[in-house]
Amino acid sequence: MSGCLFCRIASGEIPADVVLRNNDVVAFRDVNPQAPVHVLVIPIEHHTNVTELSAKAPHLTSKLIDAAAAVAQGEGLDDQYRLVFNTGADVGQSVFHVHAHVLGGRNFAWPPG
Ligand code: 5GP
Ligand code: ZN
Repeated sequence: MSGCLFCRIASGEIPADVVLRNNDVVAFRDVNPQAPVHVLVIPIEHHTNVTELSAKAPHLTSKLIDAAAAVAQGEGLDDQYRLVFNTGADVGQSVFHVHAHVLGGRNFAWPPG
């Protein structure tokens, strides 16, 4: 997916503030943070959304969630974090390479806006 922004970040072509990288996933700080901690975790392999990821690469789904938990721990969130997968433009997905938002460091309202 040469035109995909997050594929280009995963390959290092576009710079990002990377906080975790392994053979399967990359985690980097969101350029427009919505909380004191706002990190995006992506699989290096391109999948459009979490539904497709879970159907086509279930092993990567668990790697992604494990990495999100590791990021939360590394950021000192003490198991207090929100994990968000926006799925579809109507609910706010703007980059169509699956990513988990790891959000924390402040209190959050429910329901979300
Ligand atoms: P979505 O709206 O698809 O759920 O989330 C996409 C996220 O990617 C947004 O929170 C947005 O701020 C972030 N984002 C968009 N472009 C870039 C970029 O070039 N670098 C980084 N680090 N984050 C980006
Ligand atoms: Zn991609």
